[in-house]
Amino acid sequence: MTSDSQSQTTLTNRGVMFVLSSPSGAGKSTLSKLLLHDDKNIKLSISATTRTPRPGEVDGEDYFFLSIEDFRAKIDNGEMLEWAEVFGNLYGTPRTPVYEALKAGKDVLFDIDWQGTQQLHATAKAELVRVFILPPTATALEQRLHSRAQDSIEVINSRMKGASRELEHWAEYDYIIINDDLKASEKKLKAILFSEKQKRMRQTGLVEFVRDMQIELRTKFEE
Ligand code: ADP
Ligand code: 5GP
Repeated sequence: MTSDSQSQTTLTNRGVMFVLSSPSGAGKSTLSKLLLHDDKNIKLSISATTRTPRPGEVDGEDYFFLSIEDFRAKIDNGEMLEWAEVFGNLYGTPRTPVYEALKAGKDVLFDIDWQGTQQLHATAKAELVRVFILPPTATALEQRLHSRAQDSIEVINSRMKGASRELEHWAEYDYIIINDDLKASEKKLKAILFSEKQKRMRQTGLVEFVRDMQIELRTKFEE
């Protein structure tokens, strides 16, 4: 066995299911966009929802906007990997694109709530990495919902009312980022994904890699 054959061993990383959750307005979508822009190996899981599109939202890019009937039919047909009711609307993750991306060696990014995260934890624990984004203060959260300027005052108030309930689930997550400075949060998020990819169980081909190295060492250096 030569060092050439050593380098031919296929070392790849198994895909991660990377979940971001937070109270609405804490910065999940903003951080997701930054991550997706710089990491071409990560694919966003586009959720389905029964809520109406916000100004500028595009069907098939931000969400698949479905009627309640169509959404329910997809649940009944087993097409949803997870789903939940959030703020009176249904949201869910279409199953097939997630597994196709993972099979192709990609990481998959999910912007989903705690209910969906619990469901993924029950079915795909080994692949899952859960990050909870906290706003720096309650006031900042409210200001961000206003500054996003995409929801009515009623919707913003209902999301602020729901925020405390969302926060109850922070301790179910593997990592917590307090999203004060956006650049710092982006750096932390990238560091988490990078470290998770180095985990032994996620590096495929290691057994062969080490075995080939041992053979080479024995052949060259042992009597
Ligand atoms: P979420 O997806 O969690 O609902 P968004 O990503 O839409 O939240 O962010 C809500 C608003 O807050 C947006 O206007 C966004 O530009 C702003 N925002 C996000 N992160 C920060 C930050 N660290 N500092 C200041 N504003 C932020
Ligand atoms: P928004 O209406 O602000 O886009 O999303 C509202 C909430 O629904 C957010 O907390 C978001 O993470 C959550 N959400 C979006 N898509 C999904 C999904 O596919 N499944 C679940 N469980 N929650 C989702």
